[in-house]
Amino acid sequence: MSAHRPYRRILVWFRRALRVDDNPALWNALHDGDEVVPLLCLSNASLYQKLTERRKFLRSAIRGLDADLRDRGTALHVRMGNPAVAIPAAVAAYQADAVYAVALHDAPGMHRDARLKQELAGMGAALILWPDRVMREANQVLNAAGSPYKVFTPYKRAWLHGADDVPRPVSLPRQIRSAAIADGSQLLAALSWASRGPGDEAVGAQRLLRAFLKNSAAHYSVRRDIPGVEGTSRLSPHLSVGTISIRRVYWAAREAAEHAAPSAREGISTFISELIWREFYYQVLLHFPHVLETAFREEFRKLRWSENARHFAQWSEGMTGYPIVDAAMRQLLQEGWMHNRARMIVASFLTKDLHISWQRGEQHFFRHLADADLASNNGGWQWAAGTGTDASPWFRIFNPVLQAKKFDPDGTYVRRYVPELRALPASHIHEPWSMNRQEQEAHRCVVGKHYPRPLVDHHEQRAKTMMIYKQSL
Ligand SMILES: Cc1cc2nc3c(=O)[nH]c(=O)nc-3n(C[C@H](O)[C@H](O)[C@H](O)COP(=O)(O)OP(=O)(O)OC[C@H]3O[C@@H](n4cnc5c(N)ncnc54)[C@H](O)[C@@H]3O)c2cc1C
Repeated sequence: MSAHRPYRRILVWFRRALRVDDNPALWNALHDGDEVVPLLCLSNASLYQKLTERRKFLRSAIRGLDADLRDRGTALHVRMGNPAVAIPAAVAAYQADAVYAVALHDAPGMHRDARLKQELAGMGAALILWPDRVMREANQVLNAAGSPYKVFTPYKRAWLHGADDVPRPVSLPRQIRSAAIADGSQLLAALSWASRGPGDEAVGAQRLLRAFLKNSAAHYSVRRDIPGVEGTSRLSPHLSVGTISIRRVYWAAREAAEHAAPSAREGISTFISELIWREFYYQVLLHFPHVLETAFREEFRKLRWSENARHFAQWSEGMTGYPIVDAAMRQLLQEGWMHNRARMIVASFLTKDLHISWQRGEQHFFRHLADADLASNNGGWQWAAGTGTDASPWFRIFNPVLQAKKFDPDGTYVRRYVPELRALPASHIHEPWSMNRQEQEAHRCVVGKHYPRPLVDHHEQRAKTMMIYKQSL
């Protein structure tokens, strides 16, 4: 052990923060250890599971991380299996005396970490967790009584009060002092998928951020709600797996605001407000861990949900007969991403038109979204279902046709993802059933033949929803 570094060899366990830039686990390890070993833990199943867009993105991010580490004179080591077993095994194999990783916010993850810490302590190694996921930690933003916020607006006010305390991002030195370990079979490169396909996600994230701040941020307040235009940053997959640091995004936005015209500043401040929504949901997850199991609001824990498997399948596949819902669900399957307005519409449709539990929607999203995030996904679903903190009121039920006419007025979004409807004029694209038979044939879109009939009648379902929720109160 060197005179001034507390550890001889530190395993840097990469989970979520899949980057070298502004990675507190990595730069603290470089500060505290004579040598570091970058380590990734993969479940055996992950090698064989069907490749969803999310899994493709994760693989690409992992390849990029490995390439960045190689540029700095080291490489990503891989251990297969459950981290509870694989991490102690790696500590023993690499003779490490500490493991550094970023901290988690969900109760099951934190419990697992607490158990692992104990086990490693028994082996004489430390597990040290570094805050990374959010800009301001949950316990830094509490109300005057020292309690967590349940409503966004006062939370945001309190958050902004300490906005200057958000740590500045830290860049990494060009070289990483790494341990020379001979066994190449433990390197990422030994996995068959590791050398194929793109892998510069961290670079891509920085590029997206720059392009967004330069071209779109000024108009963000208005354009962020229109799914047919590229009005948002598309940074969410990167924030989810950590190919970019949230502090990097925040400070870049603050700097852009300083140099922007007053009219553009509003867009940037709305963007920062969305980043704070993300923080809000993280503190909900930390302070109210039951949200992962059940509704935040007690009165809605016993809502009677439908188990209609056909309805769920048609919703998942984008075959509900409501064009905006179908476009959105198909976007999810094709791209592993969905526009925020569309997420709100499909979530309202599942819970309040089909009466299927928000938890089923939450699981489906989690499986397919490249940006799947426990906190924001749960928060978004509970918001839409009206069961969460600061949620949309339960009696606010989105009308999918009116939403579509308002936010996709010319049908650009629907045409992009629902080819059956491409030839329809804007006047009918959101309600193809409003065309007479002759018009349907002329556009080669006969409802019930080329495109599904609406799965349910929105007005009837709306009345039913009101009844179901009222019964729960
Ligand atoms: C039902 C539902 C489920 C959702 N599931 C997820 C999820 O799993 N992962 C996820 O990252 N977001 C989720 N969101 C929030 C939001 O839809 C996405 O963050 C956003 O669409 C990502 O696109 P973007 O990066 O272009 O966002 P931008 O508009 O560019 O916003 C920048 C960043 O701010 C954060 N953000 C923006 N809107 C929200 C919001 N409403 N809540 C929390 N954070 C926000 C995201 O980190 C986003 O990347 C969900 C929303 C709903 C209604």
